[in-house]
Formats: sequence, structure tokens, C-alpha cells
Amino acid sequence: MKITFPHLGNTFLAVKALFDGLGIDYVVPPLSNREALEIGAKYSPEEICLPFKIMIGNYIQSIREGADTILIVGSCGPCRFGEYCELQMNLLKKLGYNLKFIVLDYPKDIGLKEFFRRISSIASGSDKNNFEKLRVAGFGLKIINLIDNVEKKAKFLCGYELKRGQCKSLLNECRKRAFETDSPEEMICVLKNYAGKLGKVPVSKNKKPLKIAIIGEIYTIIEPFSNLFIEEKLMNYGVSTARCLTPSWWVKDAILSPFKLNSISIRMASRKYLPFYIGGHARECVGEAVLASKKGFDGAIQIFPVGCMPEIVSKSILPNIARDKKFPILTLVVDEMTGEAGYITRIEAFLDLLERRKNNVLYGS
Ligand code: SF4
Repeated sequence: MKITFPHLGNTFLAVKALFDGLGIDYVVPPLSNREALEIGAKYSPEEICLPFKIMIGNYIQSIREGADTILIVGSCGPCRFGEYCELQMNLLKKLGYNLKFIVLDYPKDIGLKEFFRRISSIASGSDKNNFEKLRVAGFGLKIINLIDNVEKKAKFLCGYELKRGQCKSLLNECRKRAFETDSPEEMICVLKNYAGKLGKVPVSKNKKPLKIAIIGEIYTIIEPFSNLFIEEKLMNYGVSTARCLTPSWWVKDAILSPFKLNSISIRMASRKYLPFYIGGHARECVGEAVLASKKGFDGAIQIFPVGCMPEIVSKSILPNIARDKKFPILTLVVDEMTGEAGYITRIEAFLDLLERRKNNVLYGS
């Protein structure tokens, strides 16, 4: 068994550490790239959303490196994500690939027994004892939290750094060094080391950078290739960004949702505008926009793929929030045809608007 998995931001680091610790053979697909997207777009149904296409590209690039088993998380809908694994299995079968799929659905949807059966089918490739397996799983959770924290710190501090680009290069260096490690323990050391380094980056508290919340469809905001590396671009402009939806948030949300203890602040903030879950993370998007306006952000950018049903609903709600809270929100819709030049122009125009608003407030001009 040689397992692979689709990319989703920094999750590849935690999954790599997990498989290293368990001694399971795996293939990390090349970081999502143009070629993966072209492969995915070639074989996927034309009208399916962008994440599906990039994931197909990830799989096929891994299969070419010997992967024979695919690990993905699942959902029972109600958006297209609920159909992803079934469609992807059929599509890869039609292409002549004989693969095993391990789909990690929520335990509430498939039952605890089935959930553990699927977990044990992954762990069966490991010769570690149960205690060791649990210890490694704990490391995986620790790693996903650590890398999310490093990223969060870098993306927020970059607006205050004295030497432009220091946080970004530390973040990239951290990912590279973490990927070069051979065990979860080693990766944890690297991540802690970089968290410390970021804490020592010289900053000026007198700076007043623009602060932008990144909201929208979970895959598109987490996987940088799919949003044309928007957070890196904003770092280059010296803009501080924050994003609530991260892989560690997802894990926490999945654990707490059966007890209805998940994302309480988001649910409360969204109550006036969207009091129900309608699929995807539309409710989170609406709640985050409200919270960002309260937390003193200068604006928010919503990103989602063409045809994303839940985010089309939240997009129609966001203008009400923008009007009620006097809070600018830019929406960017992406697909395989998105041109970078037009995309950058829209971002720059939005930053310009935010800058002027901020100066008007600060200097009353
Ligand atoms: S949330 Fe949107 S982009 Fe993601 S799977 Fe559902 S419809 Fe597609």
C-alpha cells in the first residue's frame, strides 16, 4: 500500500509526519501547480468546481510516482463535496487506474464503528503497536496546530515588520525545513524553532497596516495555488491578513460539532443574516465577515470557485453586512481560466480604497 492524498494548504506536513511516524509508505503529490490543474481540467466534468479538478491533478501526479491508495475526507453534502469521492472513484476507474480509496467521513454520518474500521485500514500498513499509533496521531494533531500558528503569526506580523519580506521568507523556510524532516518529533522541533524566530522579528508598533480578513470557500482560501497565492501577495504589500478557516480549525470543528459546541462565536455572529447551515462553509463566511468588522479589520476578501453553490448564497448576503457595518468586502471568484493580471488589479484597487478610508478616519481628511 502506497498512500497519497490531495493538497490542502499545510496539511501535507501533518500527514507526512503521521505516515513517517507510523512507518507507512506514502507519496506527497507535488505542490498544486499549473500542470495538476491542466490534468484535472482535462479529465473532470467541465461544470464541476475548481477543488475537484486540482485534486484529480494531485492524484494523477501521485499515481505516476507509484501511489495506489487515496486518502480523502468526505462529507454527505449538501453541496457537491458530498459527491466528490464517488465521482472521483468513478473517474479514476474510467481512466484505467486501479486504486483503493479510504474516505474519512464524519462519524455522525457513517457511525463510529465504520469510522474506526476506515482508520484501522490506514493503520494496518504500520507495524507499530496501538500505543505508538496513538502517540503518532497525537503528534499529527500537534503539528497541524503548530504550523497553523506559525502561518497565522507570519501573516499578521508582516504588516508590522521593519524589514519587508522577513516574515514571508521565515514562513517559506519553515515549510521547507519541516518537509525535510524524517520524523514527527523532528518536525515539531522545527516548527517550534520557527515560531520562536517569528516572535523575534523586529516590528514597529507604530505602523498601522491594513488588516484584511480572508473569508469564503474553505478549500479555495486554504490551498494557496487555487487562490493565486493571494495571502503571499498581500504579504508583499505589507498587509496583515487573518483567516479563521484553517486545517486545525476544521479538526476542532469536526470534533466539537456532534456536541453542538463548534464555532459558537461564528454561529452567533451569523444569526441575523444566515441562521442555518446550507452546505459548504457559507455560514462561517457570513459570521466571519460580521466578526471581522467588530474586531477592527479594514475589510474582508471573499474567495470562492465559479459555481460554488453555498458561497453564491453568502455572496448575496455580504452586501447587507457591508452596508450595515460600513465594512468593505471584495469578492473574488476563481476558476482555471482566472487571469492573474485582472485578479491583481482588483486586489490593488481594493487596497487603494481601504487605504483612503483608513487615512480619512485617521486624519479626518
Ligand atoms: S463548497 Fe463549493 S467549491 Fe467546495 S465542493 Fe461545495 S460547491 Fe464545490
